[in-house]
Amino acid sequence: MRARVARAGGRAARVAVLWLAVAAPLEAQRTGPTNTGRADRVFVNGRVFTGDPGKPLVEALAVRGNTLLDVGSSSAIRRLAGKGTDVVDLRGRFVAPGFIDAHAHLVGGGLSLEELRLDDAPDLAAVSQRIAAWAKAHPEASWVTGEGWSYAAFPDGLPIRAQLDALVPDRPAYLSSYDGHTGWANSAALRLAELTRETKDPPGGTIVRDARGEPTGVLKETSAQELVERLVPKRLPHEIERALRRGIEQAAAWGLTGVQQAGISEDDLAGLARALEATPRLRVYAALHMERNPTPEALTRQDALRRRYASPRLRIGAVKGFLDGVVEARTAAMFEPYPGGGSGLPRFTQDELDRAVAAYDKAGWQVMLHAIGDRAIDMALTAFERAARANGTSGRRHRVEHIEVPRTADLARFKALGVVASTQAMFPYPNANHLTAYVPALGPERARRALAFKAIDDAGAVQAFGSDWPVFTAEVVRGIAVAVTRTTVEGTPAGGWEPAQRLSVEAALRHFTRDAAFAEHAEQERGVLAKGRLADLVVLSQDLLRLAPERIKDTKVLLTVLGGQDSYRAREF
Ligand SMILES: [Zn+2]
Repeated sequence: MRARVARAGGRAARVAVLWLAVAAPLEAQRTGPTNTGRADRVFVNGRVFTGDPGKPLVEALAVRGNTLLDVGSSSAIRRLAGKGTDVVDLRGRFVAPGFIDAHAHLVGGGLSLEELRLDDAPDLAAVSQRIAAWAKAHPEASWVTGEGWSYAAFPDGLPIRAQLDALVPDRPAYLSSYDGHTGWANSAALRLAELTRETKDPPGGTIVRDARGEPTGVLKETSAQELVERLVPKRLPHEIERALRRGIEQAAAWGLTGVQQAGISEDDLAGLARALEATPRLRVYAALHMERNPTPEALTRQDALRRRYASPRLRIGAVKGFLDGVVEARTAAMFEPYPGGGSGLPRFTQDELDRAVAAYDKAGWQVMLHAIGDRAIDMALTAFERAARANGTSGRRHRVEHIEVPRTADLARFKALGVVASTQAMFPYPNANHLTAYVPALGPERARRALAFKAIDDAGAVQAFGSDWPVFTAEVVRGIAVAVTRTTVEGTPAGGWEPAQRLSVEAALRHFTRDAAFAEHAEQERGVLAKGRLADLVVLSQDLLRLAPERIKDTKVLLTVLGGQDSYRAREF
């Protein structure tokens, strides 16, 4: 998430092998001499956006095993069908390469499908109503927990514990903000945590206090949130696995064939592997948590995990670290102060970061760094630059995650250094929170260069789109709609927020397919519909390329195909 820090397991030793040497063969090809030239399945009479610049639009696809046998005209593809070939008549439907989400959190996303969610609750009344309803429906829960509240829902931009005490007087309650960077506890939770006016702020965190010095119940950033979060009963492994299975099914229903998991613990990784075995409807590329000080022992341990999880459904190739916080909480690290003071503190010194990144780079890892403020983004790029120089490496495709407020001059460094720009299509969603908390926290000059997707493209960077689910929904058509219109579903503000940064539909599609595949070293197998690539594709209810932009959001996923097999099929298809 934009938030939610990495609890990494440290230790373990040595390393060596380069990423490419351990990269899993993506899928064994099931072609054989018994079916020469014949397709198992053909899709005809469609409008197929291939993502292949040489052949951008075709009508039909032929599949054998898990692979595309060919793409082309309906008549040519029909000739590849034989007895027993499954012929799917697309009746003019739009087809795209299977969507790939370059930054999501499947555990949190899966859990969000069953938890108390406060997303889109516009004000205190709506927030209160949802909390009260959930508490009433779950009398057995020893804690009331949930997440998703936005700063704009509260008159002062932050909640207070009295508001939560009124709703949950009888047991501890703890609710995370939608970006995960701020927690809201009631008095019972503070008592349990023995958190009083005497408690000092932990390093990097803030216990918000009222005029009399009493904690208000708001805890900013991980170290402060942990004071209460550590007391919340942990999910049991089978609960995590169940949530993951739901999350995988939901992802397939949104047209996703691939998800890049932005940081995962070792325990959750085992659960994810089991969930993908039971629900084989998604390909996952996972990042482990980046160690602050990657000792040889830690690197060896992480390398062992990289080798253990190397299947067509689950690969590990990256580590993810956090350089800063978020804009709304004024914890994103900036060169210039926020209005009202403070400029956010990076979580590493440049030296510490350089050392950690160089160690991973040398050991063949891709490094993903959460960096939102301009100062953090500069630090990330500098660390990547120095690591490549020190180690004499290239092609690692290190990534900056989020890149919300880059200095314009830093955009050219992405292409020059071969660093992937990993952005989230829904982040410029201009709802009340965005307009009344996010934009004012930046101030006008920075707001103009924030979430500048078009400028990133124009600078020649590879831009991979993700969702940061559950921070925002991972429903890809909604992400495409926001990237193209920069408006809410209601169409506001008219013309879009910072409309110069709107993208074309083709660009948004590319970022969710080919570029996202590139971001996980998989563009030779996926992200484009072409002969020899994996048969991962999605069929949509509307033709995105011929649609008025304001109607994109109404598009339904009709069919998702993973390696030639249906991973989701809508009832109406
Ligand atoms: Zn994230």
